[in-house]
Amino acid sequence: MADSNPAGSLTLIGIGPGGLDYLTRRAERAIRGCDIVVGYRLYLELIIPLIEDKHYLEFPMGAELERAQESVRLAMEGQKVALVTGGDPGIYGMAAPVYQALGDLTEDEAASVNLEVIPGVTAATASAALIGTPLIQDFAVISLSDRFVPWDVIETRLRNTLDADMALVIYEPASRHRPSHMMKAWRIISEYRKPDGPVAIVRDATREDQATTLSTVAQMMDLPYDMKTTVIVGNSMSYLDRGLLLAPREHPAVTNT
Ligand code: SAH
Repeated sequence: MADSNPAGSLTLIGIGPGGLDYLTRRAERAIRGCDIVVGYRLYLELIIPLIEDKHYLEFPMGAELERAQESVRLAMEGQKVALVTGGDPGIYGMAAPVYQALGDLTEDEAASVNLEVIPGVTAATASAALIGTPLIQDFAVISLSDRFVPWDVIETRLRNTLDADMALVIYEPASRHRPSHMMKAWRIISEYRKPDGPVAIVRDATREDQATTLSTVAQMMDLPYDMKTTVIVGNSMSYLDRGLLLAPREHPAVTNT
């Protein structure tokens, strides 16, 4: 590794769900103040108005560790690096590869990289805000991608969440490589929720092509799913009303004596 330069820094930035208005002020300040922006192409495209006059380094999808290592290397050279990532960086995001890249350095080297992690609005809350109160009690987010977690573990987590009557948020419902995952998840959902149980499908939340669809467990598989879609399955208390998916703040077993 090159000699570290304390003037360099690495800021890992959650840019939120896409719409620029949903990027925090601290994230915007860090992007404007950096020397170089690093990120996957889609995320760079989402923040073009902020980076037009910046150096940037585009990475293909996947390649997360390389992206993190290169960002760390540039920071150690003395550059102010902004590594951008969708939603929140600690939720299926770049935080793990960044800490892995730092962990591969000596402690002194790692300490010379001034790291700040800026949280972002995650797809779950961005999506929920568009459709009502699906997450007002307890909920879990589960990704259907088996790139990092084996399918049987994902299935167990789906079952436990549904069995505990928590609302379920699904990220990465489908991709070209695994179109059948949503179908497999649906079979499990059907075991634990009634056919008329409410479901919401939100695509491109806060982006130009934003689309929300309310459906039911029985009918949800008539809809298309892709990588830009978040699926929310309500708990047993939720219901559809006036174009919203609502759930009460209070569990029916609460007694106010
Ligand atoms: N770190 C991100 C999540 C990465 S996983 C975050 O905190 O939001 C990627 C998945 O998030 C996608 O497959 C999709 O399910 C969901 N997602 C991300 N942005 C979205 C958006 N604008 N609208 C709907 N779903 C979105």
